[in-house]
Amino acid sequence: MSPADATRQDPNCIFCKIIDRQLPSNVVSENDYSLAVRDVNAQAPTHILILPKIHVVNITEGSDQDLLGKLFQTACNLAKSEHLENGFRIVVNTGNDGGQTVHHLHIHLMGGRAMGWPPG
Ligand code: 5GP
Ligand code: ZN
Repeated sequence: MSPADATRQDPNCIFCKIIDRQLPSNVVSENDYSLAVRDVNAQAPTHILILPKIHVVNITEGSDQDLLGKLFQTACNLAKSEHLENGFRIVVNTGNDGGQTVHHLHIHLMGGRAMGWPPG
């Protein structure tokens, strides 16, 4: 990732606006590379979105292994701090068939109830 990429944002993206605090959100944690917020339409008792601070459209564009590793590590750290000892689900919807509605890479961390399989 080049230094220019590190500040890359899309002014029309709602998650970039959340990261910039132009839109309100319920922030769970923040570090140099990500912001974790509660999903506004939670599908489980715990439903957190881990957002990279740079605008990456989806996981296929996020080829930075270091960033992807850190995002997943953050999700696991949050699972611990949210006391999801019984288990949890991590989801990365990708593209239209994957059900992605916000085109800024994000990891869903969901827990607090038993999950069904297969997902819809
Ligand atoms: P996707 O379908 O793209 O994987 O997930 C997008 C998620 O973002 C959805 O679960 C949706 O509820 C959530 N979401 C959409 N708009 C907002 C918002 O303004 N704030 C927060 N916190 N979550 C949002
Ligand atoms: Zn964005």
